[in-house]
Amino acid sequence: MKFFGFRGGVHPPDNKVQTATKATEKMASPKMVYIPLQQHIGAPLDPLVKVGDTVLKGQKIADSTAFMSTTIHSPVSGTVKKIEQRVFPLMGKANTIVIENDGRDEWCELEKIENWQEASKEDLLKLIREKGIVGIGGASFPTHIKLNPPKDCPIDTLVLNGAECEPYLNSDNRLMLEDPMAIVEGIKIIKKILGIDNAVIGIEENKPLAIASMKKACEGTGIEVLPLHTKYPQGGEKQLIKAVLDREVPSGKLPASVGVVVQNTGTAAAIYRGVVLGQPLIEKIVTVSGKAIKEPKNLKVVIGTPFSELLDYCGVEREKIDKLVMGGPMMGMAQFTEEVPVIKGTGGLLALTKEETNYTKPQACISCGKCVDVCPMHLVPFMYARLAVKGEWENLGQYNLMDCIECGSCAYICPANRPLTEAIKIGKAKLRAIKK
Ligand code: SF4
Ligand code: SF4
Repeated sequence: MKFFGFRGGVHPPDNKVQTATKATEKMASPKMVYIPLQQHIGAPLDPLVKVGDTVLKGQKIADSTAFMSTTIHSPVSGTVKKIEQRVFPLMGKANTIVIENDGRDEWCELEKIENWQEASKEDLLKLIREKGIVGIGGASFPTHIKLNPPKDCPIDTLVLNGAECEPYLNSDNRLMLEDPMAIVEGIKIIKKILGIDNAVIGIEENKPLAIASMKKACEGTGIEVLPLHTKYPQGGEKQLIKAVLDREVPSGKLPASVGVVVQNTGTAAAIYRGVVLGQPLIEKIVTVSGKAIKEPKNLKVVIGTPFSELLDYCGVEREKIDKLVMGGPMMGMAQFTEEVPVIKGTGGLLALTKEETNYTKPQACISCGKCVDVCPMHLVPFMYARLAVKGEWENLGQYNLMDCIECGSCAYICPANRPLTEAIKIGKAKLRAIKK
């Protein structure tokens, strides 16, 4: 297969070397886990347990009847201590189930379909929902919905996202090295659900060992592995589809409109574990890095583990932290407290120093056009900051603001350090409010 590339993008220092060769360490489950009931795109879930209940590991503890929803499971065996509003990493507060771990690690009975080749598409999708599987790449879109595209959008190709283009992060990289067969088996299940033969895994060239590992695991399966020239934000769905298949997803449309479904490699592995082993999505690989961390690591942790415990496990110099970020430095979410938990969308935790955040005061725009050159969505980012300063929110729509994928490439390249990302995020919220 040929590599086609995509327009725009930037080359920030990748800072992956700190953890790229570090084998994933399994961190013991904490004494208390905090499970927010809004970890996915869609409706918040309703608790199925109450304070005082005992729960088993893997037991479903929250669900919803809403279409856009999934499920959540207890990552430990123990006792429900509280159900309350607590701060969580996606801003604001969420209803949260607090469970005291009894340390016994007792699993509940696990429903699975070992002979998935003979199962129906409907049964497989139902089980994927029951296992609480969402997109692992950060967006946390319910997987059973993504794998069931509209009937008027025939799918011919599955693209697996192994790009992991965000600096610092190595959680997908390590998974591709350490458990490639889980990814391959998950891809086979997805292909069966979609009823297609074509699948290609896109991996950036700065992960040569992962490319070799996946090529070996895919031998004889018909699944292709395509090395991609390293460039941020290649992991964006539309950019990946363009780079791998040379197809343009039109403005306002989904990948299914060009016959493609994109899944993260970690999601494929979660599908294998959910369907064949019966394990719900209760743990994650998280890269913990940044110059305030004494020993950067890749950790396998249960969902609900407070960030403070990950930082302590790796050794942290708290006085050096300028910014704590969940995810990568380009698209991650700044955190105001360590007392929030790992959720399904957590791929990284960065404790960045002043040297790394490199904040300088914004200057006037010099109309250099660099932000336009690097925008992978063909947008005009400088206009967003201009209109935001004037408060002309309703005019943002004519510059296709809603197509922005919030990759941060424009802000990264801007020599005047214009607050482009802030203008975009606030502008989107204002536009949504105006349209209501
Ligand atoms: S305008 Fe949006 S999509 Fe374009 S570079 Fe900026 S953040 Fe990325
Ligand atoms: S990159 Fe910055 S200075 Fe250059 S046009 Fe864009 S906003 Fe203005």
